[in-house]
Amino acid sequence: MVKSWSNGALLQAVESFAARFPEILIIGPRHLAGEGVAADRLGSSGVHRVTLIQAAAELARPAMAERGLAPLSSLGLEAVAARIAQTAQAKLAYFQPVAGLPGFARALARTIVELRLAGVEPEDLASAGPPAADLGLLLRLYAAELAGRSLVDLPGLLALATDAARDGKHRWAGLPLARLDADLDSRAHRTFFESLAAQAPDVLEAELGEGPSKAAANTLEHLRQFLFSPEPQRFAKNDGQFEFFSAPGEGLEAVEIARRILRLAREGTPFDQVAILLRNPDRYQPMVEDALRRAGIPAWFSQGTARPHPSGRAFLALLMCAGERLSASRFAEYLSLGQVPETPLPPKWVAPEDEALGRLEGETSEPVAEADRPTPRRWERLLVDAAVIGGKARWERRLNGLEAEFVLQDKPLDQIHNLKQFALPLIGVLDALPPEATWSVWLEQLSELARLSLRDPAPVQAVLAELAPMGDVGPVGLEEVAGVLSERLRFLRRDPPAQRWGRVFVGSIDEARGREFAVIFLPGLAEGLFPQRTLEDPLLLDEFRKVVSNHLPLREQHVKEERMRLHLAVAAARDRLIVSYPRMEVSEARPRVPSFYALELPRAVEGSLPELKAFEDRARDAAPARLNWPAPKDPIDAIDNAEYDLVAIAAARNSPGGARYLVEANPHVARSMRARWARWNKSWRPADGLVTSEIAALAVLNEQRLTSRAWSPSSLEQFAMCPYKFALQGIYKLRPRDESAPLEQMDPLTRGALFHEIQFELFQQLQRADLLPVNQDRLREALSLADAVLDRVAAKYEEDLAPAIPRVWKSETEDLRTDLQGWLQHAARNDDDWKPVEFEKEFGKDQPVALAEGVNLRGRIDLIEKHESRAVYRVTDHKTGKRPEMIPRWVGGGRSLQPLLYGLVAEQLLGSPVEAGRLLYATQRGGYTPVEIKVDDRARLFLHKLLSDIDASIAGGFLPPAPAKDACGICDYRIVCGPYEERRHGKKDRHDERLELLTEIRGMA
Ligand code: SF4
Repeated sequence: MVKSWSNGALLQAVESFAARFPEILIIGPRHLAGEGVAADRLGSSGVHRVTLIQAAAELARPAMAERGLAPLSSLGLEAVAARIAQTAQAKLAYFQPVAGLPGFARALARTIVELRLAGVEPEDLASAGPPAADLGLLLRLYAAELAGRSLVDLPGLLALATDAARDGKHRWAGLPLARLDADLDSRAHRTFFESLAAQAPDVLEAELGEGPSKAAANTLEHLRQFLFSPEPQRFAKNDGQFEFFSAPGEGLEAVEIARRILRLAREGTPFDQVAILLRNPDRYQPMVEDALRRAGIPAWFSQGTARPHPSGRAFLALLMCAGERLSASRFAEYLSLGQVPETPLPPKWVAPEDEALGRLEGETSEPVAEADRPTPRRWERLLVDAAVIGGKARWERRLNGLEAEFVLQDKPLDQIHNLKQFALPLIGVLDALPPEATWSVWLEQLSELARLSLRDPAPVQAVLAELAPMGDVGPVGLEEVAGVLSERLRFLRRDPPAQRWGRVFVGSIDEARGREFAVIFLPGLAEGLFPQRTLEDPLLLDEFRKVVSNHLPLREQHVKEERMRLHLAVAAARDRLIVSYPRMEVSEARPRVPSFYALELPRAVEGSLPELKAFEDRARDAAPARLNWPAPKDPIDAIDNAEYDLVAIAAARNSPGGARYLVEANPHVARSMRARWARWNKSWRPADGLVTSEIAALAVLNEQRLTSRAWSPSSLEQFAMCPYKFALQGIYKLRPRDESAPLEQMDPLTRGALFHEIQFELFQQLQRADLLPVNQDRLREALSLADAVLDRVAAKYEEDLAPAIPRVWKSETEDLRTDLQGWLQHAARNDDDWKPVEFEKEFGKDQPVALAEGVNLRGRIDLIEKHESRAVYRVTDHKTGKRPEMIPRWVGGGRSLQPLLYGLVAEQLLGSPVEAGRLLYATQRGGYTPVEIKVDDRARLFLHKLLSDIDASIAGGFLPPAPAKDACGICDYRIVCGPYEERRHGKKDRHDERLELLTEIRGMA
């Protein structure tokens, strides 16, 4: 037995031992442990370097083949645990209330394995308290399930291997044996190893621990010797082998590590001699990965680290979709993960992910390169618009309905066609999943589903393959299947590259066992991160464990293991150990403090516990990056261009011109910085919006003048709100993105279209029935006609659009009925001397209507009425929204042009005078309020001036972002201007004479 706190010493001992024999079996903790030992003989028949489980699998193989046993993977174990928890739930006394909860099966699987590894039999549990009695029952069921299905789990495998080792027939049982710090952490592990050792002619056990003491020659040796020592001593010489630093957050901690690795590389340390050891790989690895990528450092992320994987999450979302009656939100979640394949891959066999089941080191491959494929992001929106709730039939109806709605609104159909083509077959597959089936049926169908739905199905199929030995188990339902798979699918393992050399090793601390690196980085030494809190097994607390067996691990053993991890990280460092901690929990803006492990390391080196404040200051000074300026001081330490530029900009504060290369290197940066400066400058400049004096631009604008092309009255109304908005909408033709209405109300666009169509059809019918104008005598008949028209038009819409929630559709239709009735009653009371003569009168479509001043118009007038006794007309525009707070007298500050403009157009079309133009807020919401503007000389004068002002602004190339008060808050173009346009406008020169036209318009009543 060799013991040492240095992995290098252990490796050396094993190397010398192995050199004595032509053939030897070396058992390491992980399959890459001791990778340098006898490397020249590896692969020949002379050296067998395996883990204890791999050795057990090899020895047990003949017995398993003879008895027809299949190995049970860890995932399979959870599936069996879920099965027995469900079948036994009614018989359980203590665990009955929680046996059906998610997480119970996983905890049960862990406890069962511990019990079996400790050699505990069901009868040992019977009298050890209520939880133990339930566990006895579950353990018995578990054993029966395994026996009935010819499955063998890890304890069973070790038992078979122990028999085979004692039997001595296998050629490995009889070879010299070396154990390189491989854990013998259960009774079954120890028994197997001892039986193997009993057959071996010579045995070496090398493990981490207190060895013979000698004077330390350097800081690391001293540190190993005095770590956790009750009487630490000071090491006088500072040889730089131990460093520590802190960073503002975990992300910057990872960046700082990358920076130091680059520095080490410049000094000559190869990347593959550097390791980053993580206590919390799930938490830290994404940040380490990002920092190393930014710095261009090649890395090898160990296989032992599970990462969130979009394939797994997307597949899980589909399973949830099937479980929640084909829920559209789950389907949208699947789409949002961007895993939709361009074309489904052909079927392919995929190896399972399990140490006992296989997947040897040589079989790993480079991850599939992420192709830059398009993601159907628009589909998610379409799904929201389609407002599918669930059920296969509703999916079909709603997607067809949305297509009809698109036709109605004249929108392009290609995206909705693509979505239908992709989603409906997949929904069919999900719908066809069985309510209950054996695992073999599930695995077959789920594997096919993965192939059809994922661009990279292999990681998911590898998880499914682990369950293959469970084929006969069942029947199980979808919920149980999803429960078993959920955790594994969320955190799929990503294969590391086959070749580790030339890359920085990134893995868990446990994976450093049996390995040595020139430099070790150990981040995350903050309170709560490392050491981690150890908890008792929730299913079998320590007080019961002590009664059941003295071979069961207790909480204090886990505490020892956590301490051993710190020893392990130190043991793996040959030349340098660099530890660090984050000062902040950035996501929660919460400060962090160094853990007592962080303080224990300098204590072991310096002989006494450092004073906390002094330690924190030293750690902070060792890495000066700040959250608000994440860059080093010296440009040579920059890990990428962004950091380099930040260093240059910081330096330029003291030496102007120092960051000039930025504008020279990238013309877009220069343009963007100048534009930014110009927009915040007092004078109006081209960067502000449509502000130009260039001849070519003015020539183009000339074609947009009111006398050159047709404008709609509603577009002209935008000028007074904001000339730039007017330009974006009327000249650039930018359209705001459609926003979908909440499911619990009808889309306002659809509502408006429906209301207008009902009005149009109703007017035609009233005209045919000679019921116009509607008055008190004709009201009853008009109302019943309105009911019939509404029912017919609404039914047509309902059929075409297949509304998402029929109840919502019905209540909105009834609301419309009330509006319609109120509007007819209002007309009968107030308008019986005006006879409607034209409805929905379109004008200027082919040939614009030109007003006297040459302004061209196009549009549609909702209603033209003729007075019963006078030869004058009136035009009306129906509004379905709220009435405005300020009632316009003529043009309402330029925001209310429709009444006058429609009036003037009607005069042209009819060749007769129009007395007034009206806005009629024709719903309950608008209070049936009419807003009438007389078309008189004064009004014509105002309108003439206003139109010539707008025209002059276009001709003069001055359409700046000069919003009216609070206009930006309700503007659809805010996404173009950004959030600060009102503030910027406040800084601009208000006395610029080009603004006078706008000021004049806004002042018109
Ligand atoms: S966001 Fe403001 S400045 Fe920009 S177009 Fe709209 S109203 Fe004008």
